[in-house]
Amino acid sequence: MGTERRPLFFSGEAEGIVRCGLCPHRCLIKSGNFGACGVRGNKNGKGIIPFYGFASALAMDPIEKKPLYHFRPGSEILSLGFAGCNLRCPFCQNWRISQNTDIEGRWLQPGDVISAVLRETNAGSGCSAIAYTYSEPLVHAEFLLDCMPLAHRHGIANVLVTNGCVNIEAAREILALTDAANIDLKCFSAATYSKVLGGGASTSDGASTYDAMETVLEFIALAHKTGVHVELTTLVVPGLNDSDEELDRCADFIAGLNGASALAEIPWHLSAYHPDYHWNAPPTDPAFLLRTAERARKKLRYVYTGNIAAEENNTLCPHCGAALVRRRAYRVDTGGLAPPANGERMFRCASCGEKIAIST
Ligand code: SF4
Ligand code: SF4
Repeated sequence: MGTERRPLFFSGEAEGIVRCGLCPHRCLIKSGNFGACGVRGNKNGKGIIPFYGFASALAMDPIEKKPLYHFRPGSEILSLGFAGCNLRCPFCQNWRISQNTDIEGRWLQPGDVISAVLRETNAGSGCSAIAYTYSEPLVHAEFLLDCMPLAHRHGIANVLVTNGCVNIEAAREILALTDAANIDLKCFSAATYSKVLGGGASTSDGASTYDAMETVLEFIALAHKTGVHVELTTLVVPGLNDSDEELDRCADFIAGLNGASALAEIPWHLSAYHPDYHWNAPPTDPAFLLRTAERARKKLRYVYTGNIAAEENNTLCPHCGAALVRRRAYRVDTGGLAPPANGERMFRCASCGEKIAIST
């Protein structure tokens, strides 16, 4: 069962309707109904969050699986999955939990999640972080805002794996408690976000329209500005976002976050798609993915490919070229990294001492 935790981001409208202001859908919800995410609703004229603390999954993962390559490389992370999502990607690889709330799971309080991490830490797994992941964590803002500060009080890092589609008020509060995030940059087309990915207006009054892509771009920029360790992921889906022009625009946006003067250091993960849910196009051609990554490296220092066979995603020192981190699938060798100097968070190159954009 959920908890009586006071819901946030709701406001009352006429005739017992409530509006949820958490994400740009800004759903108007009648009593007995739920918003587009399926987890925030209206009961007797009041906003409700009956899925507070509902966990669809709780599992240990290599942090590289999130994917995060430049944050605590080689470490383990406790992954907490929820239910529901405010987007409707037709190729969603987690559709069983993102597009459905009638699923198996268990009820957890924030303290239970912290205890699970501490158990792993005490067992010597080296885990000291929680990933809020699998389906969309931001639609469970209240749980994040309770769990994240508690994690920090126990020296545990908070990692978001998210579509980044949330309004600025919630974004500010959550990002202030976030240490690292992998954020989807699904495409560079407002029309695709709106018409294909379910980011378009879906309120019951049918009148509100907004730009979901703009919301996501603002979220990414805010995360970076707030000092969150940011990595971005684009699932390259044939026929959806795989034109050179669109992928170049994604790369340009990422490069722009760091300024145009140097190669941008935010890692970009280009992942291959495989048919799933409602999308049946053939899988992404690995050669195309590799070519796209090579082109993006003219603008971005760290571009990685994912979900393709025999992938090797090493990180080289930008100064001397030594291999800092060697990766093959989820096997990671961090032997080329030297510990940060006193008081710093960034590792150094073990060969030449250069400070590297990989944080502890
Ligand atoms: S889809 Fe967005 S606005 Fe609608 S109920 Fe869910 S979080 Fe709130
Ligand atoms: S945002 Fe992620 S979880 Fe939500 S539908 Fe899209 S791929 Fe699935």
